Amino acid sequence: MFIIASSNGVIGIDDAIQTLKSGGSALDAVEIGIRAVEAHPADHTVGYNGYPDILGELELDASIMDGRTLKSGAVALLRGFPYAISVARQVMERALPHVLLAGAGAGRFAREIGAEAWQEMLTAEVREIWRERLMASYPTADLAKLTEDGPLLDMVRLATDPERVAGTVNFIARDRQGTIASGVSTSGWAWKYPGRIGDSPIIGAGNYADNRYGACACTGMGEMAIRAGTARSLTLYLQLGMPLAAAGRQAMCDLRDLGGDFIGGMNLIAMDAAGGHIGFTSRRGSRYIYQHVDMADYQMLEREVVDIPERWAGAPRPVRQVIP
Ligand code: ASP
Repeated sequence: MFIIASSNGVIGIDDAIQTLKSGGSALDAVEIGIRAVEAHPADHTVGYNGYPDILGELELDASIMDGRTLKSGAVALLRGFPYAISVARQVMERALPHVLLAGAGAGRFAREIGAEAWQEMLTAEVREIWRERLMASYPTADLAKLTEDGPLLDMVRLATDPERVAGTVNFIARDRQGTIASGVSTSGWAWKYPGRIGDSPIIGAGNYADNRYGACACTGMGEMAIRAGTARSLTLYLQLGMPLAAAGRQAMCDLRDLGGDFIGGMNLIAMDAAGGHIGFTSRRGSRYIYQHVDMADYQMLEREVVDIPERWAGAPRPVRQVIP
């Protein structure tokens, strides 16, 4: 029984470990760990008080997956509900014929199931950071007009990973029954174009779990994980018989091989069915959390680095044969 998480998961790791210790499932541990991060106002990349989109609206993405059944649930562009991971879990558990609900429909579902709603999802401090950031680059912008129907295409160049790929939270847990669950929650990129959905709620991109082989969850430039199908790819590499470290390296190389203009930092954490775990990053110094239920405290472990040069032409893309 153990958990791995992105480093900002420290806020929730105790609750998550206690959940496993007291007989809770891997899904419970993932949900409880992530909820603590979602409620934490100092984390501007997840849940309440995340950095908003270019219009100052906070829209949350989250997903959860059960490695025993491969059932999954996800929400995207959720407004007004801090615990996106719990709403995602209910999408999975209410036995809807759906996996992913977005925007107004996700909000409607959250209301219908009585999910906790908060009137105010941003502090005055974060609203001011958003306003200053916009005004610094576009001093004459009329914020009221922008919200109506103003041109945003140029402004979206401001969109940025607010904490340079340290944002978004990943939790992967393995419980007493050997079930693996994985979860991801994010407020997405700061100042993103309204309606932009990242990898976090996309099963197979930012999140994937399968008890038989392992699990993977990502942070970083979500568009890349969508294009490379990263979390599912890594799990499939395990299924094909690759050792965990090789599967992770291969998934990172797939991301690097995308090349082109819209290339940024990427991180992932992964575990295999034998209980191995590992983290990868394209930026030195990024770490991940590991805690077994028998340990008194968590460990912060270094991630292995695979460089992904920014704006790398990347062509011609090499053929990478994974099965000899
Ligand atoms: N992957 C997240 C997204 O693209 C952002 C992040 O990890 O910082 O929405």
